[in-house]
Amino acid sequence: MLIRKTVLVYFSLLAFLYSAHAQSEALSKIDIPDLKEYLTFIASDELQGRSLGTEVDGLEITANYLADYAKKIGLKPAVENYFQPVPILHTAQSTDAFIEVKNKKGKSVYKSEDLVKLDRNAGVFSLENEAVVFIGFGDNIESLNLEGKIVVAAQGSAKTFSDEVSTEWQNRTERDKMNAITAKNPKALLMITSPKDKENKAFKQLQAWMNRPGYSVKSDKITVQPAVVVAKPELADALLGKKGQYEKYLQASASGSKTVTEVSETVSLKIGSEPEELEGKNIVAYIEGSDPVLKNEYIVFMAHYDHLGIGKDGDVYNGADDNGSGTVAIMEVAEAFASLKEKPKRSIVFLWVTCEEKGHFGSSYYCDHPVFPLDKTIASINLDMVGRVYDGPRDDVWKDSPKKVKDFDGLYTLSNDVWPELAKLNAAHCAELGLIPDTSLPKERFLRASDHYHFHKYGVPILNYATGYHADYHKVGDEVEKINFEKIKRVADLCFLVGFDLANLEDVEF
Ligand SMILES: [Zn+2]
Repeated sequence: MLIRKTVLVYFSLLAFLYSAHAQSEALSKIDIPDLKEYLTFIASDELQGRSLGTEVDGLEITANYLADYAKKIGLKPAVENYFQPVPILHTAQSTDAFIEVKNKKGKSVYKSEDLVKLDRNAGVFSLENEAVVFIGFGDNIESLNLEGKIVVAAQGSAKTFSDEVSTEWQNRTERDKMNAITAKNPKALLMITSPKDKENKAFKQLQAWMNRPGYSVKSDKITVQPAVVVAKPELADALLGKKGQYEKYLQASASGSKTVTEVSETVSLKIGSEPEELEGKNIVAYIEGSDPVLKNEYIVFMAHYDHLGIGKDGDVYNGADDNGSGTVAIMEVAEAFASLKEKPKRSIVFLWVTCEEKGHFGSSYYCDHPVFPLDKTIASINLDMVGRVYDGPRDDVWKDSPKKVKDFDGLYTLSNDVWPELAKLNAAHCAELGLIPDTSLPKERFLRASDHYHFHKYGVPILNYATGYHADYHKVGDEVEKINFEKIKRVADLCFLVGFDLANLEDVEF
């Protein structure tokens, strides 16, 4: 009895020593010369800032570079040639937009190019001589039948209008209003800015936001929603018959009378342009787990490899930290796992995602079309900017940063609350490496701030590592020369240790 127990202890100790040895061998694969070599290429001017729409397709070159690398170190392709295509629509600014009002005799009384499209429908939207119905500020619409109609609603509310609080565009309020109205299936919604906004500030602000060329992920379902366009008060004056009428109408409608008004004037408009279809690429590679059952569970390491491209002035945004650093860190983590003779029990996925800077396109597409089931993904670990150490006077950006991450030992770590064990496991490995996890980032903001958001949305436990904002964030100064490669190595080491543990845990329950 005693002997058997001793033998067992002996064997488990051997296994432990073997595992510790294997881990330190693997960690030695994560080395600074490699990190430097990869990042020097990824963040070079030649790649023109790794974005869609540049003359040299640096985004594609980086995608090929990562896929070649995955192949070279022996990762398995999770999709054909390691590429998960991400369909993207590019809509240029419409050049021939107009809106026109005709009176009941058919005479044109207003024509302007001032209109902004707010809905995300692709393509051109047009109307020809259609009747409209005014619905005031868009409240109390429950009983109205708006189906198929052209609805005109005022920006703001009766209260903000009467109190003269503000004529600014309050995004959330207007969004809610738009959603309530479009839920009633009108053909189009014309939102009119406030007549009290004499300089048309709100309109100009929207114009600047929305009339830029836009990129979006092409959705699977073609859901055509009612068109929503914003126009100036002059349009409403023309529809109501004369200058100043709109303000009067809003006064009446704010006081509760005369909310729904049909007019005999008609509106015609055209806005939007046909989108161009582009293709982004996620690189999805993996190491299959060694356990016949647990290999069907996954740990995902993720980093976005795109950046901002080229500025109007021709400057190249190299994004060495954002997010060349995370991209190369994961390359080295992958090499460390690939070098293990005995692979961990669960499978480890390496996911380099595209177009984070355009709106998390790669990660949202992956999560909507997961290559490995999300309910079998026990953790998604996202690296976004892990290569800088605070080393100068505290500038404006750093002033707002929590203080712990100011030096070589600090690391912002963000987790969600899906599986609290994950944060504990992370803290233990940070301690082992002398890193101080700073968990002070406000979750409501930072859970949305990068690619991990989409895994979070689907209830996957997430970790996000970052060394923090700096003065070169989204500036041309985000260059390789300012990267601290020791720090990237420490983060990559941490990834390996956390990933190794996660992949071998007996039971994971959340
Ligand atoms: Zn980033």
